[in-house]
Amino acid sequence: MKEEWDVIVIGGGHAGIEAALAARRTGCSVVLISANTRRIGEMSCNPAIGGIAKGTIVREIDALDGSMARSADATRLHFRMLNRRKGPAVWGPRVQSDAAEYARAQQLCIGNNRIEILEDEVTALEGSTAKVAGVRCRKNGSIKGKTVVIAAGTFLKGRLFRGDEHWKGGRIGDISADSLEKDLVKRMFHVERFKTGTPSRIVRNTVKIEELEVQESEKTNFTFSYGKSPIPENEEVCYVTYTNRRTMDIAKENLHRSPLLAGRIEGTGPRYCPSFEDKVVKFPERLSHKIYVEPMGYRSRHFYLNGLSSSLPREAQEKMARSLPGFERAEISDYGYAVEYSYLHFAEMDATLRLRRTDNVFAAGQICGTSGYEEAAGLGLIAGANAGRFAKNLEPLRLSRMDAYIGVMIDDIVSKGADEPYRMFSSRAENRLHLRQDNADRRLYRTGNRFGILSEVKKKLLAGNIEEADTIRKILETETVNGIQMSKWCRRPGISIGSVIKEANSLVDKDEGVLTSVLLDEKYSGYIERNLRRSESKKNLEKISLRDIPSYMKIDEICWEAREVLERERPETLARAEKIPGIRPTDLQGLLIYLGRKRSTWNNSSGGEAQ
Ligand SMILES: Cc1cc2nc3c(=O)[nH]c(=O)nc-3n(C[C@H](O)[C@H](O)[C@H](O)COP(=O)(O)OP(=O)(O)OC[C@H]3O[C@@H](n4cnc5c(N)ncnc54)[C@H](O)[C@@H]3O)c2cc1C
Repeated sequence: MKEEWDVIVIGGGHAGIEAALAARRTGCSVVLISANTRRIGEMSCNPAIGGIAKGTIVREIDALDGSMARSADATRLHFRMLNRRKGPAVWGPRVQSDAAEYARAQQLCIGNNRIEILEDEVTALEGSTAKVAGVRCRKNGSIKGKTVVIAAGTFLKGRLFRGDEHWKGGRIGDISADSLEKDLVKRMFHVERFKTGTPSRIVRNTVKIEELEVQESEKTNFTFSYGKSPIPENEEVCYVTYTNRRTMDIAKENLHRSPLLAGRIEGTGPRYCPSFEDKVVKFPERLSHKIYVEPMGYRSRHFYLNGLSSSLPREAQEKMARSLPGFERAEISDYGYAVEYSYLHFAEMDATLRLRRTDNVFAAGQICGTSGYEEAAGLGLIAGANAGRFAKNLEPLRLSRMDAYIGVMIDDIVSKGADEPYRMFSSRAENRLHLRQDNADRRLYRTGNRFGILSEVKKKLLAGNIEEADTIRKILETETVNGIQMSKWCRRPGISIGSVIKEANSLVDKDEGVLTSVLLDEKYSGYIERNLRRSESKKNLEKISLRDIPSYMKIDEICWEAREVLERERPETLARAEKIPGIRPTDLQGLLIYLGRKRSTWNNSSGGEAQ
């Protein structure tokens, strides 16, 4: 053990891993302390990485040389590009990974990068709050560090619930970090409570898979990593089944035993990802819900029931599972449960993820009020890079809303927080036509390079992509089709990469990923410029009054979660609405459209001015 470390990372989850690796890339000595080192890199819930908006975060992490993309590629069993019905700007790559192999791949990254791993529980920070001197551990005592990153996930005063049972834990089989939470509270950090939950896992050979719908993996050479990782040969199919009236009735009969509905859990859960019992209460009219049946690994003995999260008692979970077609004799290997935990109030963090009342402590992952592996990893990377840069007395790295989804997420959580565990959606990013999964390499190369968090290999690779994109752009500007400049011609609807290559032979040998990305830049250029102008006009939001809106509940232009929040808060102006947690840029745009439509009606009937 060193006398003093540059960076101490508390936690070996998705945030802690990226934090430790990023800090290491800044040239710092790093120790990662985890209560259970065998579980480093574990996926606490579903065995999948990516998805809509989350997939873009994974590519951003890769562009900043994090490890999540590489490990997801290396352990992938199944791939889908989600949201294909919509434009490519909001497509979401998603892989199903072998959960155990993924954790092993991440552990290997930590080992290969000469990060010291220590198995212990951190019970407190040491030194004054303004300038922390390190951490205190249960077994190893004091460990000195110039900076500390707290990435304790769902472990801060974690409480697990299933029916009438409840016990301490950050996750099933793990400790609860009660002492660390107590120390943070004693130091007057403002913490609040959130909750989340997970479904049961089913013994695979007790399910009649022939009765389920099959969801094949897409055949593609897409990889999350820009480094062109080899695509594994191991493949699995996923399945789909549906709940029915019987599943719903079982949930209803047991509602009084739900820890959430019985009031034993006080923390707010994610509305976008409710437990099945929650769905039954909120959507009583829906008699059937889709359930994805996902293998936990290659030829794994266990299935994950995506969509049937529950903290009802074991008997109820068993009956609900067995009510699904094909699951009549299903055996549960692990029962679902809910976890309630403490997280840091948004006002505690600044845009570099430093805790405002300290000089040298950073926060990352679920303890910032987010949920999800990708969100945690993205925050971890920035917190770790900044901890490393602080230790070296260097200027901190900040990502703006224009740079990356990670920038949007950090801005959202440190400026207004969230009233439920924060998850990334494309609707949160006003510049989503620019912040695409295909161009994260080009968007972030300069930042990664300037802030010293890219390895030489990554630098070379990304610089090569930028050069390739420049060459392609020059060809598009100089060549013509029927007298029209190619860059303008390719913006037309229906013009595919194939047709562009046919017209310009010089594009034949270009990298397909980079070429597609440059063509998307061209196709979206008009919209992106318009968006930028709109961002400028956002400065006028203070002048737009919302006082005359009679009820938000019937405004179709905004999502239903926003309707509920706005009805409760009744903000005076659009600028105030923007600051309310849960209100997304698309809701503000929806309100503007609604106001535009209604303005004339109000003027005629009451003389009221909407603007
Ligand atoms: C039951 C459950 C259900 C979930 N459901 C979903 C879901 O449906 N969808 C979704 O997107 N996300 C879900 N999540 C959340 C997802 O697992 C997290 O968002 C993600 O893992 C957070 O990553 P993290 O690195 O912040 O923390 P975690 O992955 O929780 O890792 C925390 C790490 O910190 C360590 N640690 C904590 N305290 C200490 C201490 N005092 N000393 C030493 N080590 C410590 C732990 O050992 C662990 O290594 C769920 C989580 C749980 C537990």
